[in-house]
Amino acid sequence: MTKTEQLIAMEERYGAHNYHPLPVVLSKGEGPFLWDVEGKRYYDFLSAYSAVNQGHCHPKIVKALCDQAQTLTLTSRAFYNDSLGEYEKYMTEYFGYDRMLPMNTGAEGVETALKLVRRWGVVKKGIPNDEVMIVCCEGNFHGRTLAIVSMSNDPDSYANYGPLMTGFTRIPYNDTKALEKVLEEHGKKIAGFLLEPIQGEAGVFVPDEGYLKTCFDLCKKHNVLFIADEVQTGIARTGKLLACDHEGVRPDIVILGKALSGGVIPVSAVLCDDDIMLNIKPGEHGSTFGGFPLAGKVAMAALDVVKEEKLAEKSEYLGKIFRDAMSQCKSDRIELIRGRGLLNAVVIRPKDGKQAWDVCMKMRDLGVLAKPTHGHIIRFAPPLVITEEQLREAIALIIEAIETV
Ligand SMILES: *Cc1c(COP(=O)(O)O)cnc(C)c1O
Repeated sequence: MTKTEQLIAMEERYGAHNYHPLPVVLSKGEGPFLWDVEGKRYYDFLSAYSAVNQGHCHPKIVKALCDQAQTLTLTSRAFYNDSLGEYEKYMTEYFGYDRMLPMNTGAEGVETALKLVRRWGVVKKGIPNDEVMIVCCEGNFHGRTLAIVSMSNDPDSYANYGPLMTGFTRIPYNDTKALEKVLEEHGKKIAGFLLEPIQGEAGVFVPDEGYLKTCFDLCKKHNVLFIADEVQTGIARTGKLLACDHEGVRPDIVILGKALSGGVIPVSAVLCDDDIMLNIKPGEHGSTFGGFPLAGKVAMAALDVVKEEKLAEKSEYLGKIFRDAMSQCKSDRIELIRGRGLLNAVVIRPKDGKQAWDVCMKMRDLGVLAKPTHGHIIRFAPPLVITEEQLREAIALIIEAIETV
């Protein structure tokens, strides 16, 4: 057995079977590159679902982690520590909100936002506690907790997990008329509208120009909060700091995760203004690790890198190159190329029984790592630190894989 086979067999034997990874075992990362246990180098075109926008093992972020790890890692929120306040000030100034609430994973960020919305609905909007509704979208992906999968229309996410949580109503994505209708009919009981500005897991589904702005305006008309899940689209991935910036929309609540730490440790955060945030009082929500000293230092370093290395501008510029270059490929296997910045997807047309999975296996052999989503879509999201030359080299390999499978 090769080392690769041994390590895969060990996970297979001792781990839960809740994932289906591409068969490659990685042991090292640097910038846009990953290396497997056999020493082979790859371009990373997933970036851990956009958690590694700043590139693997970014020296500045790793230094912040190591420095703080030798000083103080965790106090819990039972006491104050000397880094949380600085982190909160940094975040609110960076993103332009009154306050932030720190959590760890993206799903916890979404849960926190749902609580804030419900609380605001009861306390500020005056909706009876048992009747608060939150509108979500078909095709959404907001994480894996029970409340969150209760919003999902993907049976893989929610089926056979017992009773789901009520209080959600789902409308088609990219359909302002559907939002208008539900708000006209139930606006008095609706506290918030939760959406991804681009649906990542659904296959990088980019809504029509103007969708976000129209939805935001409809929400304002009905005194409903507009909540953006920017866990995957935020932190420069789509060519702006937040994907909502493309339409000049300032969400009432923003949820961040993934690249907030540059992929170093789990760090998430919810941002909003006083009239929403201050409805949760001491003892009414929290997390042992949320906002711990390591998280604050790492997140500030990760966000410094985004500005210092102009990653939003790079993402915008390189994204155009990616889509242009890919559309030069005349293979009839490519059904569609879509995306924004360096969050892109190629829809693969099945041929001779070969699917997107087979294309990803061929890319792996050629030295590019990406993963199919929903069978026929491949997401392409390299670290934003990739250079134009590296990007063009990787595109040539991707096209070779598509043409030869
Ligand atoms: C990944 C993701 C989440 C969940 O984040 P976890 O850290 O995996 O809990 C939530 N929302 C969106 C849009 C995501 O892409």
